[in-house]
Amino acid sequence: MSMKMEFNNQEYYFLPHVKINALLDYLHHQGFSCIGPQIKQDAIVYEELHDSEQLPWGLRDYQMPGQYRLEENNVKRAFSWANGPQAIKPQLFKPKESLWRVARDSHGKLTFKNVTHEMKPIALFGVRSCDVAGMLIQDKAFLTEPFVDKHYQARRENVFVIAVNCGYSSNNCFCVSTNTGPQVKAGYDIALTEIDDGFVVTVGSAAGEALINKISLKHATDEMQQAMQREINNAATMQSKAMPFDNTRVVRDLLMNNLDHPQWDDVAARCLSCGNCTSVCPTCFCSSETETPALDRIESEHSREWDSCFTEGHSYIHGKVIRDDTKSRYKQWLTHKLATWWDQFDTSGCVGCGRCVTWCPVGIDITAEVAAIAKPAVDDSASE
Ligand code: SF4
Ligand code: SF4
Repeated sequence: MSMKMEFNNQEYYFLPHVKINALLDYLHHQGFSCIGPQIKQDAIVYEELHDSEQLPWGLRDYQMPGQYRLEENNVKRAFSWANGPQAIKPQLFKPKESLWRVARDSHGKLTFKNVTHEMKPIALFGVRSCDVAGMLIQDKAFLTEPFVDKHYQARRENVFVIAVNCGYSSNNCFCVSTNTGPQVKAGYDIALTEIDDGFVVTVGSAAGEALINKISLKHATDEMQQAMQREINNAATMQSKAMPFDNTRVVRDLLMNNLDHPQWDDVAARCLSCGNCTSVCPTCFCSSETETPALDRIESEHSREWDSCFTEGHSYIHGKVIRDDTKSRYKQWLTHKLATWWDQFDTSGCVGCGRCVTWCPVGIDITAEVAAIAKPAVDDSASE
């Protein structure tokens, strides 16, 4: 939906909380499966959303390096939290999916068949700005010619994005320094900002405008628009973390010029090589492919699943594991994400969501690691 369209509607509308279900009903009638935030196993996850009552009302997330918990905040709001362990990535780039099957006939001839998946259009309700930015970065990995991923493309072309600007940042958010939030800039159909009793709505696509017209939203008042701006400013000013040098190419050069820095040994002594950081990262896109033969030895299924630069198998080439220690794996992750991603995609691979900090079991903080490697340069820039 929001994939290719240039759109310019500067109007502000108001969606009262009591009309969320009208919005969901409209999307369901349009054939969308609605996915939205809700509580599961004490975390906010994105699953099938049928009713606004499923949303995480009155909750706030407390995040620190290696820590996440939900707390009640006694405010009748659905989005007074920052983010959970996942949002868009698993919806478009499936953690595991079958790609093709191969069968052998009685003469030994092999026949390959593509596996087709049901691709019901999905409406993602309540996506944070950093996650929309992450999706736009994954588009570069999956949709750049000539290597277009048909599975990702089929889902991506049918996704309707309802973004929610943040009014609150966790202790691990740093999207201001990566220029990816807290207000969504592109890649959405409509964007909501929660204020008392509802949301101020802005429109990002023709499909979004059709939705606004269909559910008959009134214009937001000047006071509502001011309240919206206060919410976004609040989320921005409460961020205490930042990526050095605003996540620019300067970070790229600093990392690539410091490949022998002692900090790589320091972080390797703490890192467990578990791969949590890559699983939760909205931009990481590495996968591995496997062949699973059926017991009758006539058919076999070829599938792919998320992989990580922290696994031993990911760097296995012709009988040798290229990155056989944690130091080289962490270095690969950080230098790809923040450095060579620029060479590949003309952008950083980090959108400042802070998930890798929160969900790292030993609380390794990407901003602190970069700051340690960049320290002399940071000191120089501070004294200028
Ligand atoms: S590297 Fe960490 S902070 Fe940056 S986008 Fe990935 S998970 Fe978020
Ligand atoms: S940095 Fe943390 S989350 Fe990532 S592999 Fe190391 S221990 Fe696991």
